[in-house]
Amino acid sequence: MKIGFIGLGIMGKPMAKNLVKAGYQLAVLDLNKASVEELKAMGAETASSSSELASRCEVIITMLPNSPQVKEVVLGENGVIEGAKPGTVVIDMSSIAPLASREIYAALAEKGVDLLDAPVSGGEPKAIDGTLAVMVGGKKEVFDKYYDIMKTMAASVVYVGESGAGNVAKLCNQVVVALNISAVSEALILAKKAGVDPDLVYQAIRGGLAGSTVMDAKAPMMMDRNFNPGFRIDLHIKDLNNVLETSHGVGVPLPLTAQVMEMMQAIKLDGCGVEDHSSLVKYYEKLANIEVTR
Ligand code: NAD
Repeated sequence: MKIGFIGLGIMGKPMAKNLVKAGYQLAVLDLNKASVEELKAMGAETASSSSELASRCEVIITMLPNSPQVKEVVLGENGVIEGAKPGTVVIDMSSIAPLASREIYAALAEKGVDLLDAPVSGGEPKAIDGTLAVMVGGKKEVFDKYYDIMKTMAASVVYVGESGAGNVAKLCNQVVVALNISAVSEALILAKKAGVDPDLVYQAIRGGLAGSTVMDAKAPMMMDRNFNPGFRIDLHIKDLNNVLETSHGVGVPLPLTAQVMEMMQAIKLDGCGVEDHSSLVKYYEKLANIEVTR
């Protein structure tokens, strides 16, 4: 089975490499030629356009920034939809708006092409290790048929419901992560300002109820002043935009998420958009006029 892979960024490149290492035959495409060359050196084929790539593959995986890019690559001129034969499946692993997933699903269905929305959590380290968490929406029988491909890149692959459900789960994930980073920031700032070593506070509380994967990943980064992404503030703003658009659409107020969104907007203005989302701590550092160094 040949797999097309479009979008070889921070996440897509290691995910594609894991598929090659597992023995799948790949054809890849990205605007970044250096990433394409890297995969080519591992034995992957290249392609001249998304439609040409789709005409050669049974499965097409996309790992792109947001809804507009996925729509352009899948439904746009020279897009996947132009080349894909009936029976092809698109597995979109990007984090996009659930409504956009449903629109793409409906357009592809008219050509007999299936879509799974299968966004991931775990970040670059888990993309490299092949231990991502994948949350999937779409037809259950399509999920079952292509489970093994997704499992090659992941520790867990969970079916959550009809088209769009995977991206709803991902938005829920992003709410928990954003609020957790904000909570960790508040705790470390409090410790530092109260004259207690924030690292010792972290060591003391990480094994208790307050501990979390987010705390273990982000607290050391904050204290080391290492804000290399990882997951950029700009991408988290993109996700929280999708969260608030969706929550307003279904009629649910999310007061804490809205507040963290505004904090992210504020530090973006300080040039932190390209930094890891752990740089949210800088918002609090500015308020308290102190840094959470050890
Ligand atoms: P990225 O910006 O590093 O990669 C996106 C890639 O898509 C780039 O290589 C870019 O050149 C390519 N691209 C964009 N438009 C294209 C087009 N029209 N044709 C071909 N290639 C195109 O982003 P990323 O960090 O890899 O994230 C990808 C998705 O995964 C996003 O939706 C993001 O929210 C999600 N995600 C990221 C992380 C993370 O930690 N970085 C974690 C979980 C989920």
